[in-house]
Amino acid sequence: MRVRRIGALLLTAATLAATLTACGGDDKFVIGVKFDQPGLGLKQTDGSVKGFDVDVATYIAKELGYTGDQIEWKETVSANREPFIQQGQVDMVVATYSITDKRKEVISFAGPYLVTGQDILTRADDTTITGQDSLQTKKVCGAQGSSSPARLVEKFGEEWKGQFLTEQQGYGACLPLLDQKQVDAISTDATILAGFAAQQPGKFRLVGQPFSEEKYGVGLKKDDKETRDKVNAAIEKMFADGSWKKAVDANFGEFASAFATPPALEKY
Ligand code: GLU
Repeated sequence: MRVRRIGALLLTAATLAATLTACGGDDKFVIGVKFDQPGLGLKQTDGSVKGFDVDVATYIAKELGYTGDQIEWKETVSANREPFIQQGQVDMVVATYSITDKRKEVISFAGPYLVTGQDILTRADDTTITGQDSLQTKKVCGAQGSSSPARLVEKFGEEWKGQFLTEQQGYGACLPLLDQKQVDAISTDATILAGFAAQQPGKFRLVGQPFSEEKYGVGLKKDDKETRDKVNAAIEKMFADGSWKKAVDANFGEFASAFATPPALEKY
């Protein structure tokens, strides 16, 4: 009798927990996105966030069972993405986050949901910069913890880093430095640079000679295979039902034609 009653009680608790999990309950789902990258993740004056990463993240959250009201957007900059995931400060990161082996040592990735390449933004009237090699003797701005400046340091060395590289917290902070001629170039993903260029037409020039392959992944807790599988399924659905293409067209303007088809997912 007593055993049966406890059993019933446990069952009720289990059902309740399952129901809460299924609909997200009162839980918030915290998503790390960039706040300073037009077209990808940009904070609006009304406090909302807008961009391709935001659209991808919203789609995934809904597929995981969360309503729009349950989503909490948290700003992540390049350098705090891994720690935020590791410390549980965010449930996932969708922030122009390239899948790399080094990052895979501490977090896991779903995706990729977009592929772009590292490129260069200069002032419109500067014709001396034509590709990666030009940067060897130019002042470059990049974001701390981002794979873009790291790639240049790998190529040009530590001495170059000391002499030519300026690191900011985010790429948005590099823009005024380029405008005011404190640096000659910003180098990072073409997606990010195209977004900046489109905001102030005629002022900057995207060189258009990409020199890497950046696969954008969704950052998740390491080895949470269950969530990674669910997120991959959500991304696959977004590719298949036309929502991915719609988000590309809605956010990338003239640059949208660079993303005609979705990439192949890397399931592991
Ligand atoms: N996609 C590159 C990275 O994940 C550069 C952009 C960024 O830092 O957000 O590091």
